[in-house]
Amino acid sequence: MKVLVINCGSSSLKYQLIDSDTKQALAVGLCERIGLEIGCLKHTPAGRDKTVIDARMDNHEVAVSMVIAALTDKEHGVIEDLSEIQAVGHRVVHGGEKFASSTIITNEVIDAIEECNDLAPLHNPANLIGIRACKSLMKDVPMVAVFDTAFHQTIPDKAYLYALPMEYYEKYKIRKYGFHGTSHSYVSERMAEFCGLDINNSKIIVCHLGNGASISAVMNGKSIDTSMGFTPLSGLVMGTRSGDIDPSIIEFIAKKENKNLDEIMHLLNKESGIQGMSQVSSDFRDINKAMDEGNEKARIAFDVFVYRVVKYIGGFIASMNGVDAIAFTAGVGENDPKVRYDVCQYLKFMGITIDEEANKLRGEEVMLSTPDSKVKVAVIPTNEELTIARETVSLLK
Ligand code: AMP
Repeated sequence: MKVLVINCGSSSLKYQLIDSDTKQALAVGLCERIGLEIGCLKHTPAGRDKTVIDARMDNHEVAVSMVIAALTDKEHGVIEDLSEIQAVGHRVVHGGEKFASSTIITNEVIDAIEECNDLAPLHNPANLIGIRACKSLMKDVPMVAVFDTAFHQTIPDKAYLYALPMEYYEKYKIRKYGFHGTSHSYVSERMAEFCGLDINNSKIIVCHLGNGASISAVMNGKSIDTSMGFTPLSGLVMGTRSGDIDPSIIEFIAKKENKNLDEIMHLLNKESGIQGMSQVSSDFRDINKAMDEGNEKARIAFDVFVYRVVKYIGGFIASMNGVDAIAFTAGVGENDPKVRYDVCQYLKFMGITIDEEANKLRGEEVMLSTPDSKVKVAVIPTNEELTIARETVSLLK
């Protein structure tokens, strides 16, 4: 079955056409600068060169029609005709408490997603625009929504509630939701297979370390805690996000710097984290290079990042009363041996030992722990698009 996977942002649209039988992406691409003067579509058919088409895309419907044109194009297309796309899977960031699993998109589902807009004002409205654009251009094609939050709906109340007056949960549903759910779900399942564990009798920690980063504790296949919270700002130090801070810092900076709430939220989301601390970059490739050159702020940013990861791992081991396996995934987790090495050095006391040669590998599935390590440690490259395609197919079947 050929499934078009759509991940729609406010001015961008990422897509992959996936053959769910072979699990291969037939084409991947990205529309950028939707709604601006000059937009651009980058389209890469599997095994062939990337094509870049500069064109104005007034709205997402225009972008989706360009995607369809690229997929069916004589020269760089991968299908003959639109009718070959048998389903569309949409990434939706926030499903609130309404969606604990993926769902076939109906008008009622669209309304329910819209009701979650308040919880993800930057993301959900954009996801809905993508859904509506696809619906209007592919009227008879079934569509499925796959939520970033759904996998974490199994987290118990003792872990998802904040110690605020209960009325804020009751009135506004302020609680931990967690994100990167498709990645945590896919990687934990694959990690169990890779390590020969029975997922229904397993304790796995997934470290999704990318530009956005989160850790989850997955017990018997279910998420029981995760580091992101009400929004994707909390938890780990990230590329440009602060992760956990003392909330009083917000008032303190507001007064000292005469900043309003929007400005402070921008500071915490876009100017903090690795970028803000190092004053070099949000990218770990640049941080590693700067550290090699003796840049002290880059080293501090790196160490703070690793230390926070370790604290979450330690906390989640206690929450699960043990751990069988720890998986590293996403851009940093898959590609940065020093992050993995430093994290594992802290965990040596538990009998975790890793093979330094295996740890040099980047971007591929590999067992890092030595055979005598008390806990399995591995890299499992994440594949959110394939997970969305799989969910889409399994619901439609
Ligand atoms: P993601 O958000 O999962 O796409 O991850 C993107 C991040 O992965 C980048 O910002 C880098 O920090 C990191 N990354 C990608 N490639 C490498 C690499 N070769 N070495 C270290 N970090 C990398």
